[in-house]
Amino acid sequence: MKNALIDDIKANLDQVQSDIDAACDHAAVARCKPKLIAVSKVQPKERVIAALEAGHRVFGENKLQEASERWGDLKPDYDGIELHLIGGLQTNKTAKAVALFDVIQTVDRIKLAKKLADEMAKQGRRLPVYLQVNTGEEAQKSGCMPADLPALVEAARALKLNVVGLMCIPPVGDDPSLHFMLLKKLANRHGLKRLSMGMSSDFALAAVMGATDIRVGTAIFGAREYG
Ligand SMILES: *Cc1c(COP(=O)(O)O)cnc(C)c1O
Repeated sequence: MKNALIDDIKANLDQVQSDIDAACDHAAVARCKPKLIAVSKVQPKERVIAALEAGHRVFGENKLQEASERWGDLKPDYDGIELHLIGGLQTNKTAKAVALFDVIQTVDRIKLAKKLADEMAKQGRRLPVYLQVNTGEEAQKSGCMPADLPALVEAARALKLNVVGLMCIPPVGDDPSLHFMLLKKLANRHGLKRLSMGMSSDFALAAVMGATDIRVGTAIFGAREYG
């Protein structure tokens, strides 16, 4: 492993935290240290290994197949890896997802909640889950509609899922702060503590607005090159 690449990624990880600190100082809110989920989807394996060598352990992937090809090999090699699923999940793939991931951030319908609860019981892995909310009410996007959230929360709790928070992906082109505010309000209403919001373009804003988890890809690893 080239040290220059490790140094590079380490500098990017540090930069993310100092951007958050600067934004919190500017907004005069208490400095916060949201959990930094390094989104490794599509990135070359050497960059992901560089992040691991730099000491980072929390990663996010949005596709089960890609994640299992990559992390099936890497997970046993490094202690303490925490892998978050941040992309949509099909109900027929819950077994594989529960086995591979440590946190599932994209529970957005009751049918999926049921499947996950069954699978977690079967595997003896009671993973923390987030409910994904489609705060922009976009037809093509996953996430439950805000109006459907109360029923989903109730169902997930009745199924004994370990629901820890909410997650959202604001519509491209919208002011993200409106979506972050809505997500926080919904989480408060349901007594949920964790807020997964903010990506490379808006993580500092999200942190100021109370994010407990930010999902950052490009700002850590560089641009994704889709082949
Ligand atoms: C890809 C992705 C990210 C990271 O996006 P960047 O702009 O590269 O930081 C965050 N969240 C989700 C759900 C993603 O799919």
